[in-house]
Amino acid sequence: MGSKTWASAPERPHERASDRKQPLLFRSISSIRGVGPKTEKILNNSGIFTVRDLLYYLPRTYENFTEVTKLSELTPGKVVIKGKISDLKTRRTSRKNLTITEGVIRDDSDAVRVVWFNQPYRAKQFDPKKDYYFTGNYDFNHGRYQLASPKAELATDVERQAAQNNGFRPVYPVRSTVKSETFKKILENLRPDFAEIPDLLPETGGASFTKPGARKLALFKAHFAESDADVKTARDYLAYEELFELILASRLNKKENQKLKAEKIPFVPEDTKNLVSHLKFKLTNAQRLATFEILKDLEKPHPMNRLLQGDVGSGKTVVAALASFSVIKAGHQVALLAPTAILATQHAESLEELLSPFGVKVALLIGSTKRKAELKAKIKNGEVDLIVGTHALLTDDTIFKSLALAIVDEQHRFGVNQRQKLLEKTVKQTGLAPHLLMMTATPIPRSLQLAVFGDLDVSILNELPKGRQPVTTKIIQEVNFTTDLYHKVREYLAKHQQIYWICRAIEDNPTQETTSVKKQAKKLQEIFKTATVAFLHGRMKPAEKDAIMQKFAGGKIDILVSTTVVEVGVNVPNANLMVIMDADNYGLAQLHQLRGRVGRGSSAAICFLASSNEEPSRRLKELEKSTDGFYLAEADLKLRGPGEIYGSLQHGAMNLQFASLLDSKMIAAASSAAKKFAETPEQLENYPELMSCIKRYQQLTTLN
Ligand code: ADP
Ligand code: MG
Repeated sequence: MGSKTWASAPERPHERASDRKQPLLFRSISSIRGVGPKTEKILNNSGIFTVRDLLYYLPRTYENFTEVTKLSELTPGKVVIKGKISDLKTRRTSRKNLTITEGVIRDDSDAVRVVWFNQPYRAKQFDPKKDYYFTGNYDFNHGRYQLASPKAELATDVERQAAQNNGFRPVYPVRSTVKSETFKKILENLRPDFAEIPDLLPETGGASFTKPGARKLALFKAHFAESDADVKTARDYLAYEELFELILASRLNKKENQKLKAEKIPFVPEDTKNLVSHLKFKLTNAQRLATFEILKDLEKPHPMNRLLQGDVGSGKTVVAALASFSVIKAGHQVALLAPTAILATQHAESLEELLSPFGVKVALLIGSTKRKAELKAKIKNGEVDLIVGTHALLTDDTIFKSLALAIVDEQHRFGVNQRQKLLEKTVKQTGLAPHLLMMTATPIPRSLQLAVFGDLDVSILNELPKGRQPVTTKIIQEVNFTTDLYHKVREYLAKHQQIYWICRAIEDNPTQETTSVKKQAKKLQEIFKTATVAFLHGRMKPAEKDAIMQKFAGGKIDILVSTTVVEVGVNVPNANLMVIMDADNYGLAQLHQLRGRVGRGSSAAICFLASSNEEPSRRLKELEKSTDGFYLAEADLKLRGPGEIYGSLQHGAMNLQFASLLDSKMIAAASSAAKKFAETPEQLENYPELMSCIKRYQQLTTLN
């Protein structure tokens, strides 16, 4: 791939001020009327540098002021209502620092209760004689239906504005201090320039999305939509563009990868057998097959690019160990990247246990590692073979003597840039790329895999080790804890089995009525007096976190109240009961992942999904029904659409905003266009902007 970067990379030194000779998309945002140095700086901080960045910062949703709901006809969900507000009162609650402002909104048909958290000014904001528009969520919460924390605007203001665009108003995702309003104003100033937007996609025939002017039209409709139909036109095009780029990237990757050279690692069956025979257990067939596939890949002179997918508890670590052993035996090094210090530490321990009897030197490199310089010197001169670490592994001064295999655990948590860094370092030194093994417990639906990750080889651990009992899952209402939950907890405590108690928030959060770790820990300690209760969350110092986790792993803590920091990979086989508070707030994949922390030994495990909703969500019901990660991934895809599967889980990696991988027609169209384009990859040079767009996707799946 050429090295020209055109579009939005923040590191690109961009042109100051209004050089109108620059093509529109590459002009600095400071060239737009109304963007002064102050706004520019704020936008820059949000990653918006060029006009292109701004144009692709798309509305999250649209408010439709032509669809005002009568109060008598309200149904739960997002609503726009118009009415007068009265009876406003602010009260403090038992929770520290939480105030609640409540009132009643009335229209001709009915009245509805409204509530704001920690916005006491609301009590004085309104003129009881005037009409306001309220936009927000109408839902059943804490025993009644109410409108929670809606946005409120004077009706006359809204109506004046709405007259311009047919009652439609875009809502931009709010980033740091940039308000949706600000985006609206800036885009309004940019409006006359939309005509200059060039096409992005080559005319590959077939799809209407590649007609000249398609992008210009789509972006215009996205920012200045006047109807649902406009929004659909915009989204269809953008979805197509996204799919085309993603699939093209995947196809080009495969070609690129074949050009890269990697160390050939000979497969020595005796070594592998030797290690396998020393394991405490028998490998599952799935583990055998995956190991074999990996070892075969490593023999090739091109870098492996393989995803090892296995449900939680399926035993990915030992597969990684076998691959590593082969590489180390051949005289090279292995790096294993883990997303958290806890996980890295645990990996280092299990790998040490497995491999050190065979002379393998394992080292851990995390933020809190002491004597880093000494360790780095050892990495550089090859005194350590297997280096397990977090981001700390990726610093410039970590130099490997001969890195031949990079393993990335829970791949979705690593950003593109981080993996890129590792590769660049290695290639610069040796001219060879490391083999790449990505491990994930987030199953990627098969439908998505084929369409999108055509360049990735996939090994699947679709079998759990023998003797595992599936985790029983139960949805439970918080009000029923005393009758239906606490006796179970006592039962597990009596068996000396440990308990995870997952909470959403760390401390009581004034704007959300979710249970916090600290408060819950206190409460549980009061209820289960003799149990040792401790808490864990992401804002604790790494050393503190590790200490708690070590204690828990060592059986010295009975109930660990924690945020989702325990979500990935942590292995405490004696923990067999889990309670997830406010379970409705998590995605299906994440809940499945969390639940995977229990049932890792041979005892029966149980997971309670606590919900404050009367009617449990489909997601929770699916979880109750199945423990099969692949089934759940498909279900999730159907329930939420693909963008979101990764949306909440993934930072910086694949994040489809518009495309649905259930839209097989569009996938087929994008796929055939991408295929045709990829037949002559050189032509990409003629599409520099497209080139930089697809680069973003390419780096998702390879290190190059
Ligand atoms: P994950 O795929 O979730 O990363 P791990 O690699 O952490 O799973 O393995 C989970 C547990 O199962 C570990 O305690 C590991 O030692 C054990 N294990 C792995 N493979 C087998 C097997 N074939 N038979 C029995 N236990 C196994
Ligand atoms: Mg794991």
